[in-house]
Amino acid sequence: MRIVLVGPPGAGKGTQAAFLAKNLSIPHISTGDLFRANISQGTELGKRAKAFISEGNLVPDEVTIGMAHDRMTQPDAANGFLLDGFPRNVSQAEALDELLKSDSQKLDAVLDLEVPEDEVVERIAGRRICRNDSSHVFHVTYSKPKVEGVCDVCGGELYTRGDDKEETVRKRLDVYHRETEPIIDHYKAQGLVVTISALGKVDEVTKRAMEALKGDK
Ligand code: AMP
Repeated sequence: MRIVLVGPPGAGKGTQAAFLAKNLSIPHISTGDLFRANISQGTELGKRAKAFISEGNLVPDEVTIGMAHDRMTQPDAANGFLLDGFPRNVSQAEALDELLKSDSQKLDAVLDLEVPEDEVVERIAGRRICRNDSSHVFHVTYSKPKVEGVCDVCGGELYTRGDDKEETVRKRLDVYHRETEPIIDHYKAQGLVVTISALGKVDEVTKRAMEALKGDK
């Protein structure tokens, strides 16, 4: 299956993507993770992306689309993938349509995770992520690690993303409404959108998502 995951920052896209990708045996491709890996490795791409990310803005399309396409054409993605955080505006969605078409592929579904706005800021402000694996996500109130600052899964150090501070979160939400939300209409016109509520326990949301995707096949 080829799936795009959409939803505002804090909807739980990264957490859900990791479980869904595992259940569906397809790679989880997160452009945010790819950027963060490039930044920590000090690559040219990372240097170009860094300022945009720390200010909560989108990285320019000419950097993002090539990076996403490179990853989508790796051998492990030959039979499908779950895109998390890409496309993030209509021109990226149009570019993805073209890239898939030229590879004789198409999307199967666009999973839209809905969450109320006031919930989002609280979720993000308390979010702590493992340095070893960004799919190991905790929350200071809702999903506390057994030992503060330490990942339950692998013992890695937990940290707060630089762009998770409240001011930047509000900016990212603004960018989401202005730039990313219109892709939902773009994909509705193709009959691809399934919307689910992202409220509730992580495993409940995963179950809801799997049922929605199955119903869509
Ligand atoms: P995420 O981990 O998906 O929340 O992404 C973190 C940041 O990376 C975003 O706020 C953007 O600055 C940047 N980013 C991730 N994906 C994209 C994309 N598809 N287009 C442009 N910027 C992106």
